[in-house]
Amino acid sequence: MTAARSPWDLDRSELEALLGDQPSYRIDQIWTGLHQQGLPPSELTVLPKSLRARLAELTEPSLRPAAAQETADGLTVKRLWELTDGARIESVLMHYPNRSTVCVSSQVGCAMACGFCATGQAGFDRHLSLGEILEQVVAARNEAAPRRLSNVVFMGMGEPFANYATVLTAIGRITDDLGIGARKITVSTIGLVPQIRRFAEEGLQVGLAVSLHGANNDLRTSLVPVNKRHPIEAVVDACRMFRERTGRRVSFEWAMIDGVNDRDSDARELISVATTARAHVNLIPLNPTPGWPTVGSPPDRIDSFANLLRQAGVNATIRTNRGTDIDAACGQLRANAERASTKAVRVEMAPRSPS
Ligand code: SF4
Repeated sequence: MTAARSPWDLDRSELEALLGDQPSYRIDQIWTGLHQQGLPPSELTVLPKSLRARLAELTEPSLRPAAAQETADGLTVKRLWELTDGARIESVLMHYPNRSTVCVSSQVGCAMACGFCATGQAGFDRHLSLGEILEQVVAARNEAAPRRLSNVVFMGMGEPFANYATVLTAIGRITDDLGIGARKITVSTIGLVPQIRRFAEEGLQVGLAVSLHGANNDLRTSLVPVNKRHPIEAVVDACRMFRERTGRRVSFEWAMIDGVNDRDSDARELISVATTARAHVNLIPLNPTPGWPTVGSPPDRIDSFANLLRQAGVNATIRTNRGTDIDAACGQLRANAERASTKAVRVEMAPRSPS
């Protein structure tokens, strides 16, 4: 017997076909309940009990809370979700005074094998389905209330462009059905050149972030093995094309790694590449992971690195490291939960309707 699909996996016509005999106002009620109220079918009390039961039989929400960690200030919450096949993924909710951002996963694990990344260290398992991606956004929006979930970033576990078609469909549903504008969505890629070029042609206003981490091919290949297939020059060309087609500036993400890519010579190489691509640079202190011997750069090194970029006319932002007191690096909560299996903080998270 095949597992029931997530109700968020279905588009409207699939929902109609699944229920067959239901009038269109019932389909509207289900659609509104799923997307605007963020409720699973079993809680759609506007429906007759029999229809609720039928829907609950035909579909099954994908995410079950497995663990959570929260920073001491309560502003960053990392969640570990268990999927219906037992696989585990993470999402991170970051709160600001009046709004929140969620960072979602697009795959179980990742095949890109970046050495400094806990997800890469664990290897690839499978792509996420549409419903598994959308449910992360819906759960975050429910949890963020009364704050507004304003932004979605595809920066969690996995390489979003390796799961291209599903991520693209998810973006459409996030904008059309969950009401978050394309300009408030960012896809972060390790630099898959054909997909960056294809994405540039989609006619979307979605932001693009490229994880660069090294500005010469030797260094970048040592950090990001996929650089062998897609070297820096090709990545920069694709970013220029993205900017030309969409009018949107690309961001380069740069994990600051002590003694590895935080030297003045690295800054000079980055200046050259960022200037050519006309990219913004985000400097992110590396979150250490147990499987990688290096640590993040000290704050004064990050400041002087940023100053070098700015003096050369490159826009650079130092990202605050959200969650140094939790397993903040991508894939780390899952890795630690699997290691400790029972020690992670267990939580129950009932869906709430956004107000
Ligand atoms: S950094 Fe991103 S692309 Fe690299 S292994 Fe981790 S999740 Fe995959």
